[in-house]
Amino acid sequence: MICIYWLRNDLRIHDNLALQAATHFDHLIILHEINKEEMGAYRKAFYLQSLQHLSDELVKLKQKIYFVHDIAESLNKIPKPKQVIASRSYNAWELKKEKLIEPPIKFFDQNTLYQEKELPFTIQKLPDTFSAFRRKIELQDKFSADPIKIDILPPESEHRLVSLPLPKIEQSNPNFLGGEKAGLARLQHYLWDTNKVDHYKETRNGMLEFDDSSKFSPWLALGCLSPNTIYRELKAYEEQVCKNESTYWLYFELLWRDYFKYLSLKYKEKLFEPGGIQNKNLSNIKEDSCLLEKIQSAKSGDDFIDANIKELLATGWMSNRGRQNVASFFCKELLLDWRLGANFFQKHLIDYDCESNWGNWAYLAGVGTDPRDRKFNTKKQAEIYDPDAAYRKKFLS
Ligand SMILES: Cc1cc2nc3c(=O)[nH]c(=O)nc-3n(C[C@H](O)[C@H](O)[C@H](O)COP(=O)(O)OP(=O)(O)OC[C@H]3O[C@@H](n4cnc5c(N)ncnc54)[C@H](O)[C@@H]3O)c2cc1C
Repeated sequence: MICIYWLRNDLRIHDNLALQAATHFDHLIILHEINKEEMGAYRKAFYLQSLQHLSDELVKLKQKIYFVHDIAESLNKIPKPKQVIASRSYNAWELKKEKLIEPPIKFFDQNTLYQEKELPFTIQKLPDTFSAFRRKIELQDKFSADPIKIDILPPESEHRLVSLPLPKIEQSNPNFLGGEKAGLARLQHYLWDTNKVDHYKETRNGMLEFDDSSKFSPWLALGCLSPNTIYRELKAYEEQVCKNESTYWLYFELLWRDYFKYLSLKYKEKLFEPGGIQNKNLSNIKEDSCLLEKIQSAKSGDDFIDANIKELLATGWMSNRGRQNVASFFCKELLLDWRLGANFFQKHLIDYDCESNWGNWAYLAGVGTDPRDRKFNTKKQAEIYDPDAAYRKKFLS
């Protein structure tokens, strides 16, 4: 039987349950539908590098990736009997795409820390606040699977597929090299080589130093790194080197990531609606394209916000502190439709992740899971997190 592996946000060979399952078939064909979203140069470069790296690694295993325009159409070009396998997805758009696929897909649950079967509640009963989710989850023992290593893959079979060439990379950020090799190297660096994780809780709000936070998110977003691998290494690090509040906090943040994925699964399209999961009536929202253009080109007039936008446009990155302030300013100060902000981040962030991005934007717009409807005071935030204005000087000068 032919196995067709539909590669999605699982661009890795290590710790890949789907690829492991593929080894049991007679033949294997690997497909990836090229992402057609409009992307800023840095996001695009990271994506293409990740694809290229995986493609090169698969060649070493005598396999290749077929890059295609349309997954459903491409599957028709492969003779039966066949089994399609893929990593599961969490958002309405991807779930919709899956429904168009024939024959039914076998899914692998491998891009969250806790698999759905490990949750102590059904998706419908998922708590509507992160705190309640975390408290329940933390009572569960976390199982950390052993690393999966794949040395051999089945050969291809006859078909009529033609692979599209990958577009050329125009501009990349040297700090973020796409692909699992660079992702694993980043994990090794942040834990074992530099012990930066020991101080993560104190530095995570920093905006200037690369190692202020883990920077795992771009590799997690495309599945070049798996949460399971991070967790396994973190536990080993805690046993062998240091276990403290900071190492716990990294785990805590990974729970946020899981939470947004499951929240998106629970609320599906609602997550993208103006009133969000709360069905809120946002009657004071402005449709002001001039204001939108101003903030998107770092001309809002608030230097803390503008520095963050400049960083995003110049690197594809913005810190978590920056993202919170920009989103709050966008929705609560300028009163712009939060979905336009989410779209803007979607285009530019190197680590764009549908559920984390839209979930966090909805949260800050007051239509998501935050029971308090908070507004950040950007002046105060700048005083706390950029007291000598070094960050603002770096990006505004
Ligand atoms: C408006 C807004 C938009 C965002 N968009 C994205 C996005 O598109 N992709 C994305 O990965 N994160 C997004 N985040 C969450 C967060 O800002 C980033 O995950 C984090 O800044 C990535 O840096 P890091 O890897 O150094 O994180 P660390 O602080 O080192 O945290 C470790 C990991 O925990 C997870 N994490 C941390 N904070 C959050 C959070 N608030 N929500 C979900 N997961 C979290 C990430 O996977 C991260 O890599 C957004 C936050 C806001 C406020």
